[in-house]
Formats: sequence, C-alpha cells, structure tokens
Amino acid sequence: MPPFDVPEGDPFGPHNLPYGVFSHAGSTQRTVGVRLGDHVLDAGAAARALGSPYVSLLAQPSLNPLLAAGRTAWSDVRRALTAWVTVPAHQEAIGSFLHPLSSVTLHLPFEVADYVDFYASENHARNVGQIFRPDAADSLTPNWKHLPIGYHGRSGTVVVSGTDVVRPSGQRKAPADAAPVFGPSVRLDIEAEVGFVVGVPSERGRPVVLGDFREHVFGLCLLNDWSARDVQAWEYVPLGPFLGKSFATSVSAWITPLDALEDARVAPPERTHALLPYLDDAQDEPGGYDLRISVAINGSVVSEPPFSTMYWTAAQQLAHMTVNGASLRTGDLYGSGTVSGTEPAQRGSLLELTWNGRDPLELPEGKRTFLEDGDVVTLSAWAPGPGGTRVGLGDVSGRIVAGTVE
Ligand code: MN
Repeated sequence: MPPFDVPEGDPFGPHNLPYGVFSHAGSTQRTVGVRLGDHVLDAGAAARALGSPYVSLLAQPSLNPLLAAGRTAWSDVRRALTAWVTVPAHQEAIGSFLHPLSSVTLHLPFEVADYVDFYASENHARNVGQIFRPDAADSLTPNWKHLPIGYHGRSGTVVVSGTDVVRPSGQRKAPADAAPVFGPSVRLDIEAEVGFVVGVPSERGRPVVLGDFREHVFGLCLLNDWSARDVQAWEYVPLGPFLGKSFATSVSAWITPLDALEDARVAPPERTHALLPYLDDAQDEPGGYDLRISVAINGSVVSEPPFSTMYWTAAQQLAHMTVNGASLRTGDLYGSGTVSGTEPAQRGSLLELTWNGRDPLELPEGKRTFLEDGDVVTLSAWAPGPGGTRVGLGDVSGRIVAGTVE
C-alpha cells in the first residue's frame, strides 16, 4: 500500500496529521480529511470502515463537531488516526479512502464564528511606529507592553487558501491631499500571521484563565491578513482597522492540532514590564511556538519571519480577549498579529519590507513596493517535530485580481 509510505523527512508524515475538509471533483459533498504526505484520508469513511466511535465527529462537512468535542476527544481521535495510518492491519482496511491531494478540492475547514486580530510582535509594532509616528518618543504606544492589542475583524470574509483576493476599493487621502479620493487601493499589502482556532466555547461572564488555553484552543493555521494600507491610514483614527482589512483574510486549508506541536513549544521573549496577574505567565508552561514562516511573492521568498519572537502568546491573547467576560464560540479564530523578527529579512509585511514603499523589493518580474494585480502570495511554515522531524503547516496562498469597482 504505497500511499501510506510517506518519504522520510516529509513534513506531513504520521507525526503531523492536520485536519481539513475536502470534496471530490464533481461532487458537492464535503467531508473531514486528514493529510498524510501528498494524500488526504477520508477520515469519516475510515472511521466507519473500522467501526470507530468517532464517526460522528469525522463524517462531517466541517471540523466544528470535532472542535466542540473538547481536549480529551481531540487526543483520543488523534491517537486513533495515528494507529489507522501506521498499523498495517488498519492500513489495509482504509487504503481505499486515501486520495491524492491533486484529485480533491480543499474548503474552508470550519465555520468561522468571531474573528479577532492581534498586534503581538514587538518588532512589527516598533517598525510600524517608526514609519507612521517618526516623531514619537517611543515607537511603541504606552499600552503595548501591558496588554495584547487587538481588534474585531470580519469573520464572514475569512477565505481558504487558493481563493482569489479582489483588490479592494475605498477612500484614501494622503496628508498633503486637500480631499479624499475613491478608487482601487494602490497600497495593497500582506500580513504574515498565525491563526488560532477555538474549539470549546466559554460562558459569558467567565474569563478563560491562562492555564485553560489548551482546553479551548484546538489548533493553528497560517493566516494572511490582507491590508489596504492607504484605506487603513485614512480611516483608522480613532476606532482602528475597518474596511482596510475586512475585504479578505486567508487561512490555510489545514488546521494543525496543538498536540502535533509539543516539540515546538518555546518560552516567549523575556518580559520587560511587570504584567497584571491575569496575563502573568512567568510560572506557566512555555507559551510560545517555534514556527519558521516563509513569505513568497510569485515563488520568490522575500521574508522568513520567526514566530518564536512574538512577545504575547496565544494563551495571553485568549485570556485578554475574555477577561471582560466576553464568551468564546466554537470556530472563533484569532490572528497573532504580523510576525516580524529582528532582521529586515524577517519582516512579515511589505509595509516593513519596503519601509512604506521607500525601498522596493527586487523580484525577477520587477520591483515591488506593494502588491500588483496577478501577484500570488504564499505563506508556508514548519515547526520542529519529534525526533528531529519537521511538522509542516498548510500553505496559505492567494492571487490578487483587479477590482470591479472603479
Ligand atoms: Mn493583522
């Protein structure tokens, strides 16, 4: 049964097993799949064939039932799947449910409930501060080291990797202009981020404490927070991002369970300010993740942001987002914020990479300050896995197409 024999070193070996949702060509029926190498296992069909009790979680058109089932179920299902793809007797029973990735269509794997985006990279926040507030005494805002800054985005426009992104139109006004103009954004950008997917809901009025992060969050994915910088710059004061962000947010088709990333856990950077108790993770298990991200435009790698440099952890973000009593729903998605390392070649946005257009990137197809129609942006990543392996995250890719509004 060759499809089960994933080549050694494949980042999607049986140590990974991310979840997605797929359909076969010509069919509208969606079902949960688990990636193994360059194949996808129809997990519901496999569960049924093996008489597994997890049919009800896996023979589903979205990941939501599995997300809602909770941490014990997540571990049990993962253990079962690992056995199915590695034990020869099981392999024989489910071999016909393994399909080449090239033969299926991947869909948005869960129903996105609320969507929040953070701003957790100190390097990114400092770069943005220097670009937009060059005269400020401190490139960080006074609140930055005291709370994870975030905003609520638009969950209905979260799209799966491979979905075209239509260039948004909107108002823009440069400081020197007398009046705003309307038209397609001329400063369309990316933000390389990691998205965290909430499985288990919480009750309104009851904050989720730091230590309960893994009871609620199922896994993570790559996320591209497309940003129209010209629209954003004119609209964002005083209430924050709005139409400059809400036209599209792309996520990878594969959700990597946190259980696959045990070997990637690292301590976050040293805290330089005392934190209020609900955010103080000094005594907690390491809350960071060592994810090595790569950003490519039309196939050329332009940046390699290291997620391990993020100041605020996903657990702190979850604690902060619920500390006022706001509740969680299954399918809530929150973005880490743009990931930027200390080096110029580790910046996660074109805003930073070109220093607001001052230093264009040289690509084989020409110079880039911001994105042009036809550009394809792809984020990919891997994390250290058990025994020196690599755990691959699903790519997130999107092509810019011309807007229809003029
Ligand atoms: Mn963002």
